[in-house]
Amino acid sequence: MSDRIVILGAGPTGLGTAYRLGQLGYDSWDLFERADHVGGLASSFTDEHGFIWDHGGHVMFSHYDYFDTLVEEMLRGDYDEHVREAWIWMHDRFIPYPFQNNIHRLPKDVFLDCLMGIVAAQQSSQPRRDFSEWITAIFGQGIAAEFMVPYNLKVWAHPLEMLGTHWQGDRVPNVDVRRIVQNLLEDRDDVSWGPNNRFKFPLLGTGMLYDRMAAALSKPVHLGSDAVRIDLADKVVTFADASRTSYDHLVTTMPLKELIRCIEDCPADVSDAVAALCHTEGLFVGIGVADECPSTKCWMYFPESNSPFYRVTYLSNYSSRVTPGPGHFSLLAEVSSSAYKPECASDIVERTLQGMVASRLLTPEQAETKIVSRQLLRVPYSYPVPTLERDDALAVIQPWLMAHDVYSRGRFGAWRYEIGNTDHSVMMGVEVADYLVGGNPETTWALLPGEEARMKIAK
Ligand SMILES: Cc1cc2nc3c(=O)[nH]c(=O)nc-3n(C[C@H](O)[C@H](O)[C@H](O)COP(=O)(O)OP(=O)(O)OC[C@H]3O[C@@H](n4cnc5c(N)ncnc54)[C@H](O)[C@@H]3O)c2cc1C
Repeated sequence: MSDRIVILGAGPTGLGTAYRLGQLGYDSWDLFERADHVGGLASSFTDEHGFIWDHGGHVMFSHYDYFDTLVEEMLRGDYDEHVREAWIWMHDRFIPYPFQNNIHRLPKDVFLDCLMGIVAAQQSSQPRRDFSEWITAIFGQGIAAEFMVPYNLKVWAHPLEMLGTHWQGDRVPNVDVRRIVQNLLEDRDDVSWGPNNRFKFPLLGTGMLYDRMAAALSKPVHLGSDAVRIDLADKVVTFADASRTSYDHLVTTMPLKELIRCIEDCPADVSDAVAALCHTEGLFVGIGVADECPSTKCWMYFPESNSPFYRVTYLSNYSSRVTPGPGHFSLLAEVSSSAYKPECASDIVERTLQGMVASRLLTPEQAETKIVSRQLLRVPYSYPVPTLERDDALAVIQPWLMAHDVYSRGRFGAWRYEIGNTDHSVMMGVEVADYLVGGNPETTWALLPGEEARMKIAK
C-alpha cells in the first residue's frame, strides 16, 4: 500500500501512529501538530524558576507489553520507579487510598455510618441506572456522602446522574466487607489495590517520553500546524495559515467536537450527536516552594469543600530533576470546571493556596514567604465525561467518519474515558497504523455494539 496517511495531533496517540508506521517500514505519512511542541496533554514544560510541570498529575503504568518495551527503548533507564503512596484528606486527617478499604481510619462515628451503609446496600437491590445510583447501591449512603459523591462531583464537574456506569473497569475499587473488618481488627492500612500501585516517572517529566518518541521518528513533526478545515469529498486538510495537505486516510487525535466543527457539510444527525458529548476543562495550579519537602506522599484526593482541587501531587517526589535543586519541592493541584461547575480562573491560584493551607499541605508561613513559583495551566479538554448518552452519540459519529476514511482516536478523539490513559492512547495510535497498513483489527479502540450496527449500514 502506498496510500498517504495524514495524522493530526502529536500527543501520545499521533506519535504512536507515526512511530508504528516507521516500525512497519511505511513512509507515506506526515504528522501535523497545532502547538509548538509535541506531547499534548502528556507534555511537560520548564518554568522561569527551573521547575518542570506536567499538565495534571501523570504517572506511567501500563496494560501492554508493547508500551512497556517502548518506554524502555525510549527512556533507556531515564525514569524513577515508585510504589504508590496515595491518600485522602478528610476529617482533618489523611486516610490511605483506596478509601473504602481503609475507613477504619475515620472518626469512629463516621466509620460506623460508612460500614452500616455498606451492609445496608448489600442487603438491598437498589437500581443502578446512573453513576449516582450506582455509588449508593455499591458503597451505601455513608461512603457516598462522605467521599464518593463529593469527590466525583469535584472531578467530573457534572451532576453524577448524567454519568453512566459502564466506564469504571479497573478505575473504581469495589467493596469487600470482610476485608474492611479484617483491616479494622488488624489495624492495617490496605493500600495495594489497583493497576497504578507501582508506577514509573520520566526524570524530566511525563513529556520526556514523547519528546524522545518524536526524536526517533524518521521525519520531523510539522509543528504550528493548526487544522481548521477538512474536506471529506476531496480528502484535503486546510491549516490556519491556509496551507493544505491531501490524504487517503486521516488519523485525527484532536477533540472529536472540534473535528466535527472543521468538517464542511456535516450531516445534521452527526452535528446533533456531537452536542451530546461532555467534557471538563482543567485548571492546573503548580506551586514551587523553596523549602525541604515535608512528605513522601505521591498524590492526595480532596473531597471536602474547603479546597477547590480534587487532587494534589507532590510532583517533586517523582523525580529530583523537576525542581531547581535540593531544598525545593513542588505541588501540582488539579481543578475541574464546566458549565455545571464553573471555576473562576482569575483567583484559582489564590484559592488553591488557601486550600493547601486549610488541608495542611503548606504552613501559613510557607504560603507567605517560601513560594517561588506559581503556575496556572488551563487545559480546555481535560476529562471526556462518560455520560449516559455518550455511546449513542459515538454510534452516529464514528461509523460516519470511518466511512469517509477518517479515524478519530485518542483521549478526546475516541472520547472514551475508559481508554483515555497514555498507554491506551499510544496503543490506539499503534493499532490504527497496524490496521491501515496490514488490516489487523484494532483492539484497544474497538467498535461499540451500537457503532458496529451503524458501521454495517454505513458500508
Ligand atoms: C489531569 C490529567 C491527568 C492524567 N493522568 C494520567 C496518568 O496518570 N497516567 C496516564 O497514563 N494518563 C494520564 N492522563 C491521560 C493522558 O494525558 C492522555 O492519555 C494522553 O495525553 C492523550 O493523548 P492523545 O494523543 O490522545 O491526546 P492529546 O494529548 O490531547 O494530544 C492531542 C494533540 O492534538 C493537537 N491538536 C488538537 N487540535 C489540533 C488541530 N486542529 N490541528 C493540529 N493539532 C491539533 C493538540 O495540540 C495535542 O498535541 C491524564 C490526563 C489528564 C488531563
